[in-house]
Amino acid sequence: MMRQYELVERVQRYKPDVNEALLNKAYVYAMQKHGHQKRASGDPYFSHPLEVAAILTEMHMDEATIAVALLHDTIEDTTATRAEIDDLFGPEMGKLVEGLTKLKKLDLVSKKAEQAENLRKLLLAISEDVRVLLVKLADRLHNMRTLDHMPEAKRLRIAEETMDIYAPLAGRMGMQGMREELEEIAFRYINPEAYRAVTARLAEIFERNKGVLTDIEKALSALFEKHSINAGVKSRQKKPWSVFRKMEAKALSFEQLSDIFGFRVVVDTVEDCYRALGAIHTTWSMVPGRFKDYISTPKQNDYRSIHTTIVGPSRQRVELQIRTREMNKIAEYGVAAHSIYKDTGGKTNGAGHAISKETNAYAWLRRTIEQLAEGDNPEDFLENTKLELFQDQVFCFTPKGMLIALPRGATPIDFAYAVHTDVGDTCVGAKVNGRIMPLMTELKNGDEVEIIRSKAQVPPAAWESVVVTGKARAAIRRATKNAIRKQYSGLGARILERAFERAGKNFTKESLKPVLHRLARKDIEDVLASVGRGELASTDVMKAVFPDYKDERVTPAAPKQREEGWSKIRNAAGMLFQIPGRAARKDKDQPRDGAVPIRGVRGDLPVRFAPEGAVPGDRIVGIVQPGTGITIYPIQSPALQAFDDQPERWIDVRWDIDERTKERFPARVSVTAINAPGSLADIAQVVASNDANIHTLSMVRTAPDFTEMLIDLEVWDLKHLNRLLSQLKDNSSVSDARRVNG
Ligand code: MN
Repeated sequence: MMRQYELVERVQRYKPDVNEALLNKAYVYAMQKHGHQKRASGDPYFSHPLEVAAILTEMHMDEATIAVALLHDTIEDTTATRAEIDDLFGPEMGKLVEGLTKLKKLDLVSKKAEQAENLRKLLLAISEDVRVLLVKLADRLHNMRTLDHMPEAKRLRIAEETMDIYAPLAGRMGMQGMREELEEIAFRYINPEAYRAVTARLAEIFERNKGVLTDIEKALSALFEKHSINAGVKSRQKKPWSVFRKMEAKALSFEQLSDIFGFRVVVDTVEDCYRALGAIHTTWSMVPGRFKDYISTPKQNDYRSIHTTIVGPSRQRVELQIRTREMNKIAEYGVAAHSIYKDTGGKTNGAGHAISKETNAYAWLRRTIEQLAEGDNPEDFLENTKLELFQDQVFCFTPKGMLIALPRGATPIDFAYAVHTDVGDTCVGAKVNGRIMPLMTELKNGDEVEIIRSKAQVPPAAWESVVVTGKARAAIRRATKNAIRKQYSGLGARILERAFERAGKNFTKESLKPVLHRLARKDIEDVLASVGRGELASTDVMKAVFPDYKDERVTPAAPKQREEGWSKIRNAAGMLFQIPGRAARKDKDQPRDGAVPIRGVRGDLPVRFAPEGAVPGDRIVGIVQPGTGITIYPIQSPALQAFDDQPERWIDVRWDIDERTKERFPARVSVTAINAPGSLADIAQVVASNDANIHTLSMVRTAPDFTEMLIDLEVWDLKHLNRLLSQLKDNSSVSDARRVNG
């Protein structure tokens, strides 16, 4: 087992100013915590985190990452707690260790859906700190190296998971060394026969061609020396898994794949890369169609190198990779190399090329995720992987780089609610990848979403039908309910104020407190909202607060009194009924004088308008709704068809409008608007300039160029409504406007 000072020395070799105290503290703490625990192999458990740390020193990781590696199993397997680690090592380390603990619990689930969920959590964890992935991969690598000690039943599952998820992820992150070793070990367990066969053949070929390989290496070295190029030349061993995979994927025979020798040429500068290439191409003939310049056009995971194949000195085909040391490091360690170099941000690499801003962990992750669903490059790492499990999800980012996972079809509204309920509730707009986009836009993988907020916003109820996440839906429902309740309780408070005032009493909300039980309401707000909704009469409240109060209004002889926000209807016998009105809210300045809008209603049933509304000028009919009252429909309303076979429910009613009455009536219109900036404002402007009110507005259908919306209006009468409709139709933002069911 590696000693404490050995670990420190290893890190010191590449990072002379290492924080020794941190490493020592983590070493001692983890060793004590794991105590006498043993691994399946019989080794002390502590040897495992120590080996994981050692793997990370090979990748030249900083001491914080190494320390996290030492601690990575403590919360899960020992008495250590997050709080204790926070205390001893600081919250940043605590968070990393906890993150790894959570990931550990996710390992090895069998169901596909659970696997996808694992991946989602893994990516979320990585997006918070890419070091989580580095430690996780090192952890997995050590577990793979010691897989022999696992119970046989578990080996195959661990190997498959490694092949499906961890190896491609390592590849995606540009960590080719890690990826290859994970694949090779997994291959050995998943398909032992193939592994043995391919390995044996490769060894045989290597043995047979040892001499040739040495010749080629010598010839290349001599060539570079002649041209004064400082170059390291190394033959590349074919890996059994990559040979096997290519054989399967391309249906090629072993011979077709294994007759090529591979060499890597590592030089100092980019210039040397091209000089070496020139020297090679002028000395030996190149195999057509095999030249690729990934230096001028790097691969998406930042891989840079020149690839070419020549017919070599012994008439063998020789595949060459030419690159600088810097490129080699990135090809080997990928995102890990970047996290090493992140401190040197603006500095230049050995080849005189600045490390581009894009080469940071965040950009890598973002690109990875963009490509997850697309699988655009079959030659790449996504082939045969299960990263396609992501197809029913989208991953988006906040401007700060936080990853938000959403179901496919999600909108910026879902995104906002996923970030935080407050963000959703105050969301008024969104920028997707820097551009303002409609809130109904379907988000795509890798989108960066910035939510524009306004404190004055109340989420429109119509959003409920737009969003796809349960969290957003529930929050919108709650917010809408609260907003409506607030409106009603505000209305209720005004009604009570007026009623009390008329009775010469002073209304305070507190005066309701002692009578809540008598009113059978749970709190004051509830009383106010009930009054606002018309479920509780103001006189009942008055009587509860002032038991000796006499209600004068019930006598027909009493002067017509109107309470704000209430409509009254009179039945055939001339009796007055009150129904909750819609008008007072917005036009309380209008004079009112006890209008009696509808005649013909029998008995004491409450009356309301159909959702599509009805306005004076419409021929109307009443439909008895057992238990709830009477609903007024315009006679032409298609909704009436539902009652065709129940004539007993039909009631003749007619408007009873007093000319002096200033009451508004509901009418629903459908407007098809052109999607252009300001078109909604145009529509609102037309409505407002015609002295109509918008009660609610909901988007029902959106196409890229048009939006269909339903608007519940409040108008004076049919003439008023028709004038408004024709002006809407004339507006350049509107392609169609018509009444719904009217
Ligand atoms: Mn572990």
